[in-house]
Amino acid sequence: MTEKAESYVISPPPPRPVLAVVGTAKAFPVRRLWCVGRNYVEHIKEMGHDVRDPPFFFAKPADAIVPDGGTVPYPSLTRDMHHEVELVVALKSGGRDIPVARALDCIYGYGVGIDLTRRDLQIASRDIKRPWEIGKAFDHSAPCGALQPASAIGHPSKGRIVLKVNGKVRQDGDLNQMIWNVPEIISKLSEMVELAAGDIIMTGTPSGVAATVAGDRLDCEIEGVGTLAVTIGQPLK
Ligand code: MN
Repeated sequence: MTEKAESYVISPPPPRPVLAVVGTAKAFPVRRLWCVGRNYVEHIKEMGHDVRDPPFFFAKPADAIVPDGGTVPYPSLTRDMHHEVELVVALKSGGRDIPVARALDCIYGYGVGIDLTRRDLQIASRDIKRPWEIGKAFDHSAPCGALQPASAIGHPSKGRIVLKVNGKVRQDGDLNQMIWNVPEIISKLSEMVELAAGDIIMTGTPSGVAATVAGDRLDCEIEGVGTLAVTIGQPLK
């Protein structure tokens, strides 16, 4: 389909969001952004849930991505925005009912992301059995650093995952603490929706989630994958 403005009844929205890629000026085009809930035992315990419950999925809009070095305006309606550092998986292909044994073949690369969460609104929605979007899928809720191609770093299944606030360690886990590993996540999600090139998945957070406020600097690192730094800014006027 043509992208010419005269093809549309209103001006088309900006081009699709992208992620930077280490080692090249070319970008990774983002299609959909999925997130895994409850995938590290210690985080499940800190949120007061039963660790035997299986993980589940929710989504954020792709245009919620904030690049490395960016600023996240403190969002509206919350007094309790939490950080959740997560391994990001970026797909170069997809499909339906992808077998676990073939899931790694779908991966382009990996990055470091933060699943920012308006925790007070998420919990309020959860408690009255309403959807999570207002707690999870708000503007600027998905900082994500540059991708490392799997062709360069392989497929990390272990490695320290850390988030610091103003230099102080808040979250400190290891990728090997995931309840469902990356191939299992891709396989399970592909039973629910057809995955495709450009889809990215945030794979859950270790324990230590906590509130962040305007002026905070968040520094994240996943061993063997990369880093991500963002600043929490003043609310938009
Ligand atoms: Mn999360």
